[in-house]
Amino acid sequence: MTTQEFWNKVKSPEYKVTQPRLAFADVLVQNQDVMLSAESLYEKTKTIFPKTNLSTIYRNLESLERLNMIYKVTTDDGLNLYKLKCASNEHHHHIICTKCGKVLDIHFCPFDTFSELAGKAGFTITEHRLELYGLCEDCRK
Ligand SMILES: [Zn+2]
Ligand SMILES: [Zn+2]
Ligand SMILES: [Zn+2]
Repeated sequence: MTTQEFWNKVKSPEYKVTQPRLAFADVLVQNQDVMLSAESLYEKTKTIFPKTNLSTIYRNLESLERLNMIYKVTTDDGLNLYKLKCASNEHHHHIICTKCGKVLDIHFCPFDTFSELAGKAGFTITEHRLELYGLCEDCRK
């Protein structure tokens, strides 16, 4: 996704273009394949727009989450990591590097068997999430 595509997609009166938001959008677009904490997003945004602060970053993340723009995971340590939602609307899964946060798309879903088993037990699965965690090639070196 380019920054232009980002703003076309947001298109909400609730999220008007402001200078801090432009900087934040740049950071999100530049890191759309990496899961980052709010603190890291803040550090990166600060290099473009020094006057921003962490609470602004949190507020922007909340607004963008409401606008369905953000993909968020919570690690076992309770840390929230964020990135822009993938451009692909197709259902897929992610492998996330626990060291650098790099995300790889996996276009395979192993859940058909689960759905079948759940169906036999009288359940309809309405949604599921699955993230795989590991170390990427660079971080393994
Ligand atoms: Zn890595
Ligand atoms: Zn993806
Ligand atoms: Zn799936």
